[in-house]
Amino acid sequence: ERAYRVSASSIGDGTELFVLLFKDQSEARRIDRMRADFIANASHELRTPLASVSGFIETLRGPARDDPVARENFLQIMHNQTQRMARLIDDLLSLSRLEMKPYLKPSGRVDLVQLLDGVVESMRHLAGESGVTIEKAFPSTPIFVAGNHDELVQVFENLMENACKYGGAGGRILVSAEQAGPLEEVRATVRDFGPGIPEEHIPRVTERFYRVDVETSRAQKGTGLGLSIVKHILTRHDARLSIRSKVGKGAAFTVHFPPLPPGAASRPA
Ligand code: ADP
Repeated sequence: ERAYRVSASSIGDGTELFVLLFKDQSEARRIDRMRADFIANASHELRTPLASVSGFIETLRGPARDDPVARENFLQIMHNQTQRMARLIDDLLSLSRLEMKPYLKPSGRVDLVQLLDGVVESMRHLAGESGVTIEKAFPSTPIFVAGNHDELVQVFENLMENACKYGGAGGRILVSAEQAGPLEEVRATVRDFGPGIPEEHIPRVTERFYRVDVETSRAQKGTGLGLSIVKHILTRHDARLSIRSKVGKGAAFTVHFPPLPPGAASRPA
């Protein structure tokens, strides 16, 4: 409010400036609130497995001290919980690294067809474990986009992992890439044929820690951060994510990349 008074008196037209500052302040408050929520959520997510591990340590020191079967069982649970904390910390570090340099746009040039092909091959093992086959629908020629190779690998690994974890019941995943013409946007889609996402949840699944079903996500070793990391990386690439789904019919996650400027595709990276 003080900022308003000072600034408004320094220029002739106070009204416009008032609106501007007000917007700024409410945006700052919104960001503060988001940050506080985020820290609260992250702490809670870490606290749960930590509480479980300390509980089991106490049990191992006391009642289960001389019971080798119980001991083995509890050690296994403690191992799983520490792994869960490690996954969460990895994801939190990924997010903070991405936030550290929002102004640094990825500058490389990536053949999306080759990149997707590599990710599909590296995912075959996980897919096989979930009883899923991956089908590819790529053109035979390269499709270039501006981007950072490793970050884009992370995006598509995440989408394919989710398709296996949550859409695995559908038995197959379809990964496709297309560009209608040299000046058209580039689209890459990861589609599954599993249970899909109820419509009301679709706009929220890219929020940090948002899960449609917390128990399923935990059972699938999810942290609730995968899609927010995806969204972050895509924003840095001036790309966007669209999600289509029908309950019972599966889910399709499409990444839309802007076309490379004319001539850029033939230049070396
Ligand atoms: P998580 O670590 O829980 O997997 P994500 O951010 O990757 O977190 O995904 C958020 C939520 O979106 C998941 O918990 C799940 O409920 C839902 N979801 C993501 N991908 C799919 C999919 N292919 N089919 C159905 N639900 C999905």
